[in-house]
Amino acid sequence: MPEFDALRVEQALHLLAQSGHAMPPGAPGSAAWLQGLIDGLCELSSRDALTGLANRRSFESALGREIDRVARSGEPALLLLLDIDHFKRVNDTHGHAVGDLVIQSVADGLRETVRPMDLAARIGGEEFAVILPNCSPAFGQTVADRLRTRIEARPIPIGPSQTLGVTISVGGAYAPQWVRSTASLWTERADLQLYRAKAEGRNRTCLEPTPVSVVSPEEKGLLFGTSNFGEFLE
Ligand code: GH3
Ligand code: MG
Ligand code: MG
Repeated sequence: MPEFDALRVEQALHLLAQSGHAMPPGAPGSAAWLQGLIDGLCELSSRDALTGLANRRSFESALGREIDRVARSGEPALLLLLDIDHFKRVNDTHGHAVGDLVIQSVADGLRETVRPMDLAARIGGEEFAVILPNCSPAFGQTVADRLRTRIEARPIPIGPSQTLGVTISVGGAYAPQWVRSTASLWTERADLQLYRAKAEGRNRTCLEPTPVSVVSPEEKGLLFGTSNFGEFLE
C-alpha cells in the first residue's frame, strides 16, 4: 500500500513537471510541500493545456457563480463567445501544428486585453468565452470590439519569416439583472449572437439588444420570495 501511495505522488509530480508548473516548495512530504502539490494539481485541472486559459469546466463553474452574483447585486455582467473565422482553412493550408499556434496566439491576445477581474476561457477547439463581471451595457460593445480588433491586428509568427492574420467573430449577451437564470440559457443567448455575427459576414461583434432595466413586480417577487419586500424597491 505505501508503494501504491508513493507511485501516485510520483505521477502527480510528473504531471506538474510536464506542464511546466513549479514544483511544490519545502521538504518533500512536509505540510507545505503537500499543500503546494495539491494547489498545483487544482491549478492544472482548471486550465486548458494548450493555451493556459481557464478550461471549459472552470468556465462553467465561474458562469454559475457570476449568475448568483448578478441576481444578488443587480450589477450588470456580459458573456462573450468568440470563434476564430475560417479556422478550418488554417489547418488545411498550414497544418494542425500551425493551427495550434494560431489558437495559442488568439488566447494570448485575449489574456492581454481582458481586465484582471474578467475570466477568459477556451471552451472548444477554436472557441473561447470571456465573462466580464460589472460590465455595463454602455461599454459592452466597445469592450467586445476591442477584443476583436486586437486579434485582427495581431500578426502570428508561423515560420522564420512568415506571419498569419486571423479574425474572430464575437457574440454577447448580458445576464438578466435581479432575476435567476441558468448558465445554459445565458450561453445560448450569447451563442445566438455569435451565429448572427457569422451570418452577417464574420469579423464582427453582435450583442443582444440591451435588456430593459426596469424590474417588474414578478421579478421582485422572485428575488425576495414575497411581494411585500418588493415595495422597498419602488
Ligand atoms: P467559421 O468561420 O464558420 O467558424 O469556420 P471554421 O472553419 O472556423 O469553423 P469550424 O467550426 O467548422 O472549424 C473548426 C475547425 O477547428 C475544425 C477542427 O478541425 C479544428 N480544430 C478543433 N480543435 C482544434 C485544435 O485543438 N487544434 C487545431 N489545430 N485545430 C482544431
Ligand atoms: Mg467553431
Ligand atoms: Mg470557427
